[in-house]
Amino acid sequence: MSLTLYALGVAVLLSASFFYLFGYRSWRRRRVMAKPFPADWQTILDRDVWVYRHLPEPLQARLRPLIQVFLDEKRFYGCAGLTVTDTMRVTIAAEACLLILNLPLSFYDDLRAILVYPSAYRVPDIHREGEVLSESSGVHLGDSWQRGKVILSWEDVVAGAGHHQHGHNVAIHEFTHQLDQADGSADGAPMLRSSNALRTWSQVFSKAFDNLQKTLEQGHSELIDPYGATNPAEFFAVVTETFFERPRALHREHPALYRQLQQFFDLDPLSWTRAGD
Ligand SMILES: [Zn+2]
Repeated sequence: MSLTLYALGVAVLLSASFFYLFGYRSWRRRRVMAKPFPADWQTILDRDVWVYRHLPEPLQARLRPLIQVFLDEKRFYGCAGLTVTDTMRVTIAAEACLLILNLPLSFYDDLRAILVYPSAYRVPDIHREGEVLSESSGVHLGDSWQRGKVILSWEDVVAGAGHHQHGHNVAIHEFTHQLDQADGSADGAPMLRSSNALRTWSQVFSKAFDNLQKTLEQGHSELIDPYGATNPAEFFAVVTETFFERPRALHREHPALYRQLQQFFDLDPLSWTRAGD
């Protein structure tokens, strides 16, 4: 009898946890998305987020509720004395949600906190050579951690969000790492729709990664930032910056890469940039 009661208790607890994890989350998301988009957030998008002004209207309409959910679920923390404002939260959320306009919201389920520094910040970098560990201090514009954290320099977020097309966008870079990490490993290959797609993705990306390394070794310059040659995860993040910032150039110089990113994000930034951009 007591065993039956115990089993019943466990079953009730499991169903409650299941509802909390999945049912409650989607119920709350639907509720948040149904609320009107705040007028002062709209002003921030129109004034400060270049890509929002250039998106076709149907994509703008998809982006706004995603921003509402993102801001409902993620916590922002100011670092080095910074007070986080709505301008910072809305701008960062807009760049993050641009990436998941046509992807499931669940890509950001593990992301909990965004830490914002006023500008580039120093962090200790640990290096290992054999058994010897050494520590130096590096200047970072942003970081993405596996345990649900993104760190950003606000000054550099503004530089990226204020005007796409110069090729650099730290927010897009760090949130791309989060998409990459959503399947548990930061390896430059996010969750794709089929294993067939993964095979093509791997072929196209490893070829382009090797080519970038060779080009840089020969001392030539490349459209793709040299930092992309660090490893496949950085390559994916850097190429995604180029995809959203300089789609025309990426499409011209690396059509196969462009096509893979277009298929994964289910977006075509070429269609919302003018010729010559
Ligand atoms: Zn990176």
